[in-house]
Amino acid sequence: MRLALGTLTATLAFGAAAPAQTPRLDDLKRRAAADVDARARFTQQMIDQIFSFGELGFQEVETSRYLIRELRRHGFRMEEGVAGIPTAWVASWGSGKPVISLGSDIDGIPQASQYPGVACRQPMVEGAPGHGEGHNSGLAVSITAALAVQAIMQRERLPGTIRIWPGVAEELVGTKAYYVRAGLFRDVDIAFFAHVDNNLSVRWGDTDATGLVSAQFTFTGRSAHSAGAPWRGRSALDAVELMNIGWNYRREHLRLQHRSHYVISSGGDQPNVVPPVASVWYYFRELDYPRIQELFALGDTIARAAATMTGTTLAPVRILGSAWPQHFNKVVAHTTYENIKQVGLPQWTEADQALARAVQRVLGVPDSGLATTLDTLRPALTEAERRGGGSDDIGDVSWTVPTVTLRFPANIPNLPGHNWSNAIAMATPIAHKGATAGAKALALTMLDFLLRPELVRQAWDYFRDVQTKTIKYEPLIRPEDRPATETNAATMDRYRPAMRAFYYNPAKHRTYLEQLGIHYPTVPGADGSCTR
Ligand SMILES: [Zn+2]
Repeated sequence: MRLALGTLTATLAFGAAAPAQTPRLDDLKRRAAADVDARARFTQQMIDQIFSFGELGFQEVETSRYLIRELRRHGFRMEEGVAGIPTAWVASWGSGKPVISLGSDIDGIPQASQYPGVACRQPMVEGAPGHGEGHNSGLAVSITAALAVQAIMQRERLPGTIRIWPGVAEELVGTKAYYVRAGLFRDVDIAFFAHVDNNLSVRWGDTDATGLVSAQFTFTGRSAHSAGAPWRGRSALDAVELMNIGWNYRREHLRLQHRSHYVISSGGDQPNVVPPVASVWYYFRELDYPRIQELFALGDTIARAAATMTGTTLAPVRILGSAWPQHFNKVVAHTTYENIKQVGLPQWTEADQALARAVQRVLGVPDSGLATTLDTLRPALTEAERRGGGSDDIGDVSWTVPTVTLRFPANIPNLPGHNWSNAIAMATPIAHKGATAGAKALALTMLDFLLRPELVRQAWDYFRDVQTKTIKYEPLIRPEDRPATETNAATMDRYRPAMRAFYYNPAKHRTYLEQLGIHYPTVPGADGSCTR
């Protein structure tokens, strides 16, 4: 029998306060938390395994194969290759409403290969990618929570469906808009995203995060001998350089909240051949859809002007990725935060703190160690408070169904992000304990939404009547765009053979640190070097 939901007091509008607990729900939450603790070894194995694969966006082949096997083993139905993306999949378990969707990113960062637990720059494979963002930990949170809740749903015969999906190529903001377009969230009631951080927290409303269009501009000119007949050539590289100069002059007159950056993805072959083809890859970031589109259109104008100046041709602009700015659901955030307070931060050991402080000192930032005070649930940012920052294509999901990102304490504070130092903690007890804390908060919150249908209704009321009252989601990808699934293939082909030697074998070694023979923590000695 379901509990008598009618007896629960109705909560205030949009979940401003919702401590509507019952003895049964309390008891199930206690059991779920204990179950998550009992799965700590499994959580650790997932984190260490994915860390050791260190795969870049769209090439998460080993990572997906491993996760699909684990989810199948636990009774999930698998749909593979979703949205035309080879490494994307959706796992489903259970039936009926509510449909709770759990996701987290799985891709790594170029040139971030790094020995875990070592507070010095020491790549495992020189030049290779690695988890310098910590995306090896998020699905460990989602899956551990899902398995704990699955056990309770089976025992208590609770209706509901759990879905799990990977954020493929998040570092390229390359897939979630395609997931939305493919209808992956069509029947979803509530979506929980999990992302590594250095505290256990949740936000609601607009955030500092930007949305973006990631676009590649390719120019075609004419090759010629650079010394013998340069007047016969038309340099595509000149067009790239003039576009960048034009953009950088215009940058002074753009809003401070905007962010834009580029890399020259192809600049010619050798100096004595006038480059016939060159490409530049831009990220255009702003705080709302119209401004993102305006910025992208400005890039297009400058690119066309550069083509005109250089006598080259601009090919149709390719969109490689996109993201909406994020807006998180107030009801889901408040409900999650009540559980975050129950769970609290992990118990850090002196070894954990010593590693954290050593890494912070190496980077020359305040050596505050790991977080020991829980973040508060801050009110939503006002428009004036939004200053811009990074992006995550979870934004597209957040404008499709009520969503929050649960941030969990698996990394060290004050790190630069997208850097080798962000990988150091990610296969150590810091990440393992942080993910377990995140999984508990998530499992408890899933139980709230499974057993209190009024919360689902209130979340949708906020979504319809507040969040999307005046702003409607329109994709930044165009109908003709396709996922850039070939990205990073050449890089992975180059490094994977050497990286294979470092894959984690949980059958032989309890932890990845043990397999690598790393003393935990390894911190710099008096001469500043680390001896493993
Ligand atoms: Zn991320």
